[in-house]
Amino acid sequence: RYKPKWAIHEKRLTNCNHALGHFDAFYKPVYGQDWPSVRLSLLSLPKHCAVVNIYGNSAAAQEQLCDLGTSNFLLDAQTQVSVENQSTSDDSELNPENDGKVATGLPPYALPGSDDVSAANPDLLEEEALRDGQYSSDDLNVFVPTEKVYSEKDLLLREEISLNSFESRDISLKVLPAEALNFSQDLRPYVFPSGVVSRFPSPKSHYGTLGYYLMDAASVLPVLALDVQPTDRVLDLCAAPGGKSYLILQLLHLHEGGRLHCNDSAQARLSRLKSVLNLYFPKDIIEQVIVTKMDGASEFPVAYNKVLVDVPCNADRHAVTEDDNNLFKVSRTRERLDMVRLQRELLISALKSCVPGGTVVYSTCTLAPAQNDGVIQAVAEELWETSEVEFAVQDLTNLRRALTPTFKFHDKTKYGLTVLPTPLNNFGPSFVAKLKRTK
Ligand code: SAM
Repeated sequence: RYKPKWAIHEKRLTNCNHALGHFDAFYKPVYGQDWPSVRLSLLSLPKHCAVVNIYGNSAAAQEQLCDLGTSNFLLDAQTQVSVENQSTSDDSELNPENDGKVATGLPPYALPGSDDVSAANPDLLEEEALRDGQYSSDDLNVFVPTEKVYSEKDLLLREEISLNSFESRDISLKVLPAEALNFSQDLRPYVFPSGVVSRFPSPKSHYGTLGYYLMDAASVLPVLALDVQPTDRVLDLCAAPGGKSYLILQLLHLHEGGRLHCNDSAQARLSRLKSVLNLYFPKDIIEQVIVTKMDGASEFPVAYNKVLVDVPCNADRHAVTEDDNNLFKVSRTRERLDMVRLQRELLISALKSCVPGGTVVYSTCTLAPAQNDGVIQAVAEELWETSEVEFAVQDLTNLRRALTPTFKFHDKTKYGLTVLPTPLNNFGPSFVAKLKRTK
């Protein structure tokens, strides 16, 4: 018979369970009715897309992908785009009344009159976390107003709660109206239809170059938002293992002046990036790509008109499914709590390396508002106080509308787009915000 008091029979709290408990406490109040479906999806096998390599045998790859019953979701979106391009661009969802001048309005996570105020209220979050059994009874001490000296564990938990209780504030951040879209035909991401969870076979090699690259379809969004043109000078600040660099290289014309600088701080991951380059691109292309191993928060030359900053984050899907190398491991708590600070530093560095008039795309694969909209807001405030650099947020309504058949977007994101994983289209999570450096 099972006796709970026999600790030996108690299941160890795995890192994945820790992550799941954290997400139940912090995401449920934000994503409300959508949370059960998102949670189920995070725990299920993700759905991929196959992005055709224009440097391989693309005709054969496309034929193979069509035979599998997949289709290029950007071709479908282009039809929608053509309609959008005809419409006026003053219907910004971010700020319908101000002609896209200032992102004001109600905090998206705590609507007055809504029952769901806990997201903006750390105390309610704490209670909820306790009710749901996320924290052990030892943690209860944190919430009891006594004179006791808090243990390090208590202090970390407090820090965790305050870090995650992102409160949206009204700040004077200019919002630029939605732009007309035009998807390049060189980017060809194929997906199985909604509800089909078949797997792609490994890509075939043709004269040593692979025909397609498999990735989460939501990873295509940051590169679409970056709107890469053939002769752009692009910095991919956190590039490894190279999925988005691969997409950027499909769009750049390096022989006509296009440039790509891939940077990452992790040597092992940079090795994976280099093997991606070797598997997918001819030598004359690889030779032109600059690869560096630097701290992305250090100083880069102000030399790029497009900068992608795809920051390290909670990596929600990995956190709930892979116990190894898991950010929610107790020994990595400090690193996890420092994540938002690192993200801010990386975004500031990205903005500083972008020429005025250029574009910075900030992206994550987490649903944590503090690591998404929260970072944009904090960076706007910090730059306002400490630097001459200024930026505006680009409204992504048109991109969202065009891609709605493939992705489910969260309704209440303030500055960017958030892709919510669903059981039928298990892509993401992904957050993407597009910023224009104005000064
Ligand atoms: N963009 C990549 C892709 O599409 O394959 C994924 C990037 S991953 C989300 C985040 C990356 O940031 C990791 O490869 C990590 O090594 C890198 N990173 C972490 N801290 C960094 C820092 N201070 N400077 C530069 N890169 C950093």
